[in-house]
Amino acid sequence: MRPVRLLAIAPRPFEDELLSCWHWRVASHYSSSPRQVENWISGSSRVSAPHLFNHDIPTDQSATRLWALACRLRQGDLERLSLRATGRSRASFVSDPGHRGVCPACLDEDAEQGRDHYCRRSWARVEAVVCPQHKTGLEINCGGCFRTGLFQFRSTPAGVVRLFCRECDAVVSARRFQRRNQTDLLQVASLVGEAIGKGGSGFERIEVASRFLWSPRPEGMPYIAALGFPLPYGQRPSITAGAAPLASLPPAWRAVTITAIADLLFQETAKKALLSSSVREAFRQFECGPVPAYHQVPPQTRAASVLNLRAETEYRQLARGIVESEGWKSLPSKAGRARNRVIGKLMLRALNGG
Ligand SMILES: [Zn+2]
Ligand SMILES: [Zn+2]
Repeated sequence: MRPVRLLAIAPRPFEDELLSCWHWRVASHYSSSPRQVENWISGSSRVSAPHLFNHDIPTDQSATRLWALACRLRQGDLERLSLRATGRSRASFVSDPGHRGVCPACLDEDAEQGRDHYCRRSWARVEAVVCPQHKTGLEINCGGCFRTGLFQFRSTPAGVVRLFCRECDAVVSARRFQRRNQTDLLQVASLVGEAIGKGGSGFERIEVASRFLWSPRPEGMPYIAALGFPLPYGQRPSITAGAAPLASLPPAWRAVTITAIADLLFQETAKKALLSSSVREAFRQFECGPVPAYHQVPPQTRAASVLNLRAETEYRQLARGIVESEGWKSLPSKAGRARNRVIGKLMLRALNGG
């Protein structure tokens, strides 16, 4: 066996840090990727890069041992950062790292206290849609250019690591605009998170509910789009959620899904039930499976009436109306979520004939 090469600089892991984040922080000091660093310290050149998710739930301990030796850390201190150490099942974490949100306010605090930006382990949980400390939503889009999924750890000339937007090179920060307080959503997410944490049949029911909400109805759209909840940016889902919606959706869609799940499963704790009895009945039948019971929902439900598709020309007219409106002209002065909200409002108003 080749001796392990030692790294000159390797930041210490934070108590609540995510393992793959620590890998990226180490690698950013060498302007490289965790894969390149791992190849260097092991003296090998494996080309097949494993999915990043595997970094957070390592199946074999040899890689962790390698990193620990190269960075002069105890192996146990790194194993602690793995999602496996949380005791929660793999399905209770968002699998695509690009769909895990970050809290820009937490990152600002990191910077204020002179430490590296880092990703909290808890941000990888499927129910992580709001920061418990700052009560604002976790984000995957840049506050400057609004592009998503392009954050990258880079070392600054001052020797600290910051999360940057790859598109506009801005440091991720909450300072650009005021975020909405999301205490209500946080409460709902905590409720669902608690049930997930307990595992067992409680988590199973949550998974079934998420599949139900994202199952296609006869009209083609999933339930989630027709329940009357405010949808991200006023849109209908252009994404398909697959067999494990919670583990694969971006935070904004997970937030809507979690809200609907809480209403379906923990109705007694909600202030007022939002879902109609026909939707509940459809869910009950879906839960009993294996017949796709949602196909049997009578067409006169509230859910179905929302999805009256219109002619192409009518949509084009509506779009022209939006672009020519006063609301649209005032857009450039707004930024980020505020801008998206205005667009969503304009769309809703146009669609509702207001
Ligand atoms: Zn925060
Ligand atoms: Zn950007």
